[in-house]
Amino acid sequence: MSYVLGLDFGGTKLAAGIVDTVSGTVVASQRCPTPAGGAATGFAAMLALGDALRAQVATPIRAVGVSFGGPVEADGRTVRLSMHLPGWEEFPLAARCEAHFGVPTIIANDADAAGLAEYRFGAGQGCQHMLYLTVSTGIGGGVIINGKLHRGEHAWAGEVGHMILKPDGPACACGGNGCLESLSSGLSIARDARANVPPSLRARDVATISARDVAMAAAAGDSVAMQIWDHAVGWLGVGISSASNLLNPGIIVIGGGLTGAGEQLFGPLRTIMAYRALSKQVVLKPAALGDVIGIMGGAALCMD
Ligand SMILES: [Zn+2]
Repeated sequence: MSYVLGLDFGGTKLAAGIVDTVSGTVVASQRCPTPAGGAATGFAAMLALGDALRAQVATPIRAVGVSFGGPVEADGRTVRLSMHLPGWEEFPLAARCEAHFGVPTIIANDADAAGLAEYRFGAGQGCQHMLYLTVSTGIGGGVIINGKLHRGEHAWAGEVGHMILKPDGPACACGGNGCLESLSSGLSIARDARANVPPSLRARDVATISARDVAMAAAAGDSVAMQIWDHAVGWLGVGISSASNLLNPGIIVIGGGLTGAGEQLFGPLRTIMAYRALSKQVVLKPAALGDVIGIMGGAALCMD
């Protein structure tokens, strides 16, 4: 039996869980909203969650793995920054966790950790090379090569959302143009629907229209919503097919809010991949781990 502590630093919530890495189950977990204030208060709140769990579970933990909602240095020890909260610039998170918990600690950004979690415990089990995408407000990704997380030389690998598909396309959050994220993310679908409001959503406050509203309107036959949805899913299919040609994964796992659309998303993606991706064996699957994915990602990092 080997117990590890998985910590999940999200923009809106903090979660911690003790995971049995042999059975792949969460033995105990706790969560709380991410406190306002920044790195010092967030870190202290997370330590309190971890301490409460250690008091609750008699078996000592062997390691700590951290999923962090922001870029992390290639050494897997230092946070580069948080896009949402101050104080995280070059924060030595692994060393600070080691000083507190007294066991080795490894960290990764949330999409990398989620990819590794799906590979070890979820929908990505059973292959050697896997690609994970989270399609939500933004688009993130994680690459598994030879069963291990591929961070890249400077920790920028797996940024699927910033593959440039249409150089003259919409502005992207990264400062570029025409990245996959600017064409297919939840935010980009909402942006397109607010600019060209589907008839069935015209009674709504335009500012509140979400990607989910567009998906539902498209499913109900609204032709403008269908156009917006097909455009976004079409580019996503192109992006995934290109990534498949680059990496030749056995399984591509897609998580994030947009997967709530089910076959309305996966059906067209499979069709596009069938003629655009060179490998016809690659399998497309929805993520399996739900909201414990960050905790499981931390645990998977401990095993990597
Ligand atoms: Zn970008």
